[in-house]
Amino acid sequence: MSLAELSPADLSALAEELTTSYAELKDAGLKLDLTRGKPSAEQLDLSNELLSLPGADRTTDGSGTDIRNYGGLEGLPEIRQIFADLLGIPVAQLIAADNSSLSVMHDSLAFALLHGRAGGTPWATRPHKILCPTPGYDRHFQLAEDLGFELISVDLSADGPDLETIKRLVAEDEAIKAIWVVPTYANPNGAVYSEAVTRELVSMPTAADDFTVLWDNAYAVHHLTDDELAPVDVLGLAAEAGNPDRVFVYASTSKITFAGAGVSFFGGSPATVAWYLKHLSKRTIGPDKTNHLRHALYLKDADGVRALMRRHRAIIAPKFDAVERILGDRLGSYGVATWTQPHGGYFVTLDVVENTATEVVRLAKEAGIALTPAGSSHPYGKDPQDRTIRIAPTFPPLDQVTAAIDGVATCVLLAAVTKLLR
Ligand code: PLP
Repeated sequence: MSLAELSPADLSALAEELTTSYAELKDAGLKLDLTRGKPSAEQLDLSNELLSLPGADRTTDGSGTDIRNYGGLEGLPEIRQIFADLLGIPVAQLIAADNSSLSVMHDSLAFALLHGRAGGTPWATRPHKILCPTPGYDRHFQLAEDLGFELISVDLSADGPDLETIKRLVAEDEAIKAIWVVPTYANPNGAVYSEAVTRELVSMPTAADDFTVLWDNAYAVHHLTDDELAPVDVLGLAAEAGNPDRVFVYASTSKITFAGAGVSFFGGSPATVAWYLKHLSKRTIGPDKTNHLRHALYLKDADGVRALMRRHRAIIAPKFDAVERILGDRLGSYGVATWTQPHGGYFVTLDVVENTATEVVRLAKEAGIALTPAGSSHPYGKDPQDRTIRIAPTFPPLDQVTAAIDGVATCVLLAAVTKLLR
């Protein structure tokens, strides 16, 4: 029976029961962490072969270039080809960089702010705003805020973004220069941007003629089901719509091989890639080609990546299943929360009773369960409804995920009942 339907006496009895369960939870002395979307040690171990590649006798790439030397700004052709195949992007339009796509996002935005986009006015010389589909990735929002963008929240449901609002805002406000998009299994609500939605984003009229879609395909190949979604041809659709330069594409192997020692990628129209390389050439003489080669040798081809991702899935899918099962068992009948059931990616979004998310996170913390701060999936870290909690189940072992989610469920219920009794 939902909480709202309980009689005052039943509600008080439940409150008492939950207070006891919570005290027991605290006494258990847990030390569990569901905060960051990191691969587990077991996942990292899948790629340990990388640690002995390319090997002492391998110092050149396929074309004979010495990987130990300077140069090769656009990255090794072999690794670019593998990800061009996976992302559905012509290899000439995809470059490989160092270990973090977040730093490529930083660079590309910094170049636009300082130099403008290919002949345009530097963004930093005028007010600049960015659309933030919410809930979203906290580091996207913090990066944009740090670079001086005004953050504008637009709703993102598990079915996709609020397109009508986006179209209205970009049509009327020239200061809106960009939108964050995590098109496949978005962080944190697992949303997938359909081809139809993508078509709208790349073709909608915008007041700014250099409006840019920041297409962060961080989870392009991170499927949790047999339905392995093919990538949307975002660059092709943008070109078809007459806006070939509208899109910056980002990706990385952070959650494919090693999160701290992978390869990142930047893609765009030929003009965009030339613009990026021009500014990049002032910042570096070239990326870590040794790492590119070791990745190319290890992954081999697009099918090699797909096979590796199925091994990741075998490790993490049971953790996502546990989250879904426990939340269903513990919270399903009370009507106090909803949660996403992602088909891929790294997160579950848990929406609790309004104005209790901060309290749930506090209760969990006191019981030794670390959750991402309430509000972190919102621009400026502020969730006006204080409702959304991001759960990252990949890093801890399965038994810890199970214990942590069970504890979180107790906290969600306790916070909801306490609010109702107030
Ligand atoms: N983009 C999204 C959507 C993410 O969720 C993350 C990490 O959680 C990143 C980018 C970080 O990527 P990288 O490790 O390549 O910097």
